[in-house]
Amino acid sequence: MNNASILVVEDDPPISNLITTTLKAHGYRHIPASNGETAIMLAASNRPDIMLLDLGLPDCDGVEVIKKVRTWSEMPIIVISARSDDRDKIEALDSGADDYLTKPFSVEELLARIRATIRRLSSAVTADAKFVNGELTIDYAAGSVFLAGEELHLTPIEYKLLCILAKNVGKVLTHTFITRSIWESAWESNVGSLRVFMATLRKKIAPLPDSPQYIQTHVGVGYRMIKID
Ligand code: CA
Repeated sequence: MNNASILVVEDDPPISNLITTTLKAHGYRHIPASNGETAIMLAASNRPDIMLLDLGLPDCDGVEVIKKVRTWSEMPIIVISARSDDRDKIEALDSGADDYLTKPFSVEELLARIRATIRRLSSAVTADAKFVNGELTIDYAAGSVFLAGEELHLTPIEYKLLCILAKNVGKVLTHTFITRSIWESAWESNVGSLRVFMATLRKKIAPLPDSPQYIQTHVGVGYRMIKID
C-alpha cells in the first residue's frame, strides 16, 4: 500500500495544493475533487483507498458526502475541516468518517493519520492468509487455489479476478471496478475480455452442472461472489 490512492476533496485551492503536493512528495497517488458531487462520482469510479474530505463544500455539506459514500463503501474517510465544534466532529464520525483533523493542521499530522489508516487497511488484508468459501480455498501466501482439496491451475488473470471477488465476497462489483483492479483501466474492450476470463474461471471453480455457483452475474452491472455455507 505504499502507493495508496487518496481522493482529496477540498474547494480551497491553496489547501488543496498543499495537500496534493505533500501526498505526491511522499509517493501517494492523489485524485483531486473540488465539490461534493465530483467527490462522490470519483469515489465510485476510481475506488480510492482513502478519502480526505473538507466539510465546507460549495455544493453540499461534506457530511452528505460521507452518508452517500457509506451506503456502498467502507473506504476510510478522514475529515479535514475548519469547524472545530465537537458537534460537527461527532456528526461526521457518526455519519461514518474514520478520523478528524481540524484546520489549520500540520502536514506531519496529516501524514501520520494517513499512515495509521494504511496500517489498518494492510493488517485487515494480511490477517486473512487464506480464504475459504464452500469447497473453494485460496491460499494467498502460496498463490494457490484449491477446489475440494484439488489444486486448480488458473492463469494469472483468472487468479487476480478470483482474489478480487473473494476479497469483496458478498458485494456486487461493477465491471469498471473489476477491470480497473485488473488492468488499471476501464475500456470497453476490457469488459469484453473480462467476460471471457470470467467464463473460463467459472468453468474451473464450478466444473460440474450441480457444482455450487460461486459467482453471480448482475447483467449490465457486474459480478458478485456469493458466500456458500
Ligand atoms: Ca471548504
